Amino acid sequence: MSSTVPLIVRLLASSVSVANRAGKIVRDVMSKGELGIVEKGKDDYQTEADRSAQKCIIAALSAQFPKLSIIGEEDSPENDTEVPTDWLVVDADKEVLTLNCPTNLQGVKEEDIVVWVDPLDGTSEYTQGFLEHVTVLIGISVNEEPVAGVIHQPYYKSMIGGEKKMGRTIWGLKDAGVGGFTPAPPPDSLIITTTRSHSNPLVEKALQVMNASQILRVGGAGYKVLQLLEGKASVYVFASGGCKKWDTCAPEAILSASGGTLSDMLGNRYKYGASVGKPNKTGVLAAANPDLYNYALSRIPQELKEALAK
Ligand code: AMP
Ligand code: MG
Ligand code: MG
Repeated sequence: MSSTVPLIVRLLASSVSVANRAGKIVRDVMSKGELGIVEKGKDDYQTEADRSAQKCIIAALSAQFPKLSIIGEEDSPENDTEVPTDWLVVDADKEVLTLNCPTNLQGVKEEDIVVWVDPLDGTSEYTQGFLEHVTVLIGISVNEEPVAGVIHQPYYKSMIGGEKKMGRTIWGLKDAGVGGFTPAPPPDSLIITTTRSHSNPLVEKALQVMNASQILRVGGAGYKVLQLLEGKASVYVFASGGCKKWDTCAPEAILSASGGTLSDMLGNRYKYGASVGKPNKTGVLAAANPDLYNYALSRIPQELKEALAK
């Protein structure tokens, strides 16, 4: 059956299943209690969960789709490719497999795709116990544009048929749909979501000019975009170059598929080809609908844009 389903849909369906497995790794590392924290740079950490979840995602996807370019956040030694067999997920999400693929994506080949993987977004929050903020991100770009993505939340708690369930997986495919959550309209008053662990004076300046009724400071690009999708925040504002392409590819794809926009603070979209620079140097501005996005963009003073673009 799967050979009749377009590649991009199969890849998204597999990414949903792989993200679920990676999320279990994230939980297992935490429950064992040995995080194996490594400092990669200032305010930039990696744990055993980041390393193992990335190995699982890359091994499982490249076993099924060998010609994909996959770029993961974590560096791993070339010869470090052995993984436990149960990490080599071969399942694919059944609901995603039934999606109607937009015509322009039907002929996409593995060689046209770059997959951006953030195996654990919100590592600071993971190490500090803000577990709800943690997500696993798999973003799929075609011709430099994010077209599909998965945000998995390993610690999301729900009840299904009277049984407790841990974790949920949100997905989106451009011009086809989104799933795994209940979309909600933006809040009645302007609520901004921003970083809780990577602020600086420019970030604070951009928050001041928004004239918001409330500012939520939470971890992770994935979690902040989830707040937009679920109507908990109106705009995501981050006037800093600290986010990377693996932070924004999946969230941008899902947000676009649900009618929102993610760009830099100057109003330009990022490109996601294999050879682009990894940092999102000119910040992140995102909103759930065009009116909120245009309002937020109109509030950014020229000197702030220039300071970021320097
Ligand atoms: P935050 O909103 O601070 O949770 O950041 C969202 C994503 O961008 C996370 O993956 C962070 O690790 C990354 N990030 C943001 N700012 C920085 C920074 N100054 N240094 C390293 N990573 C950053
Ligand atoms: Mg991240
Ligand atoms: Mg990460």
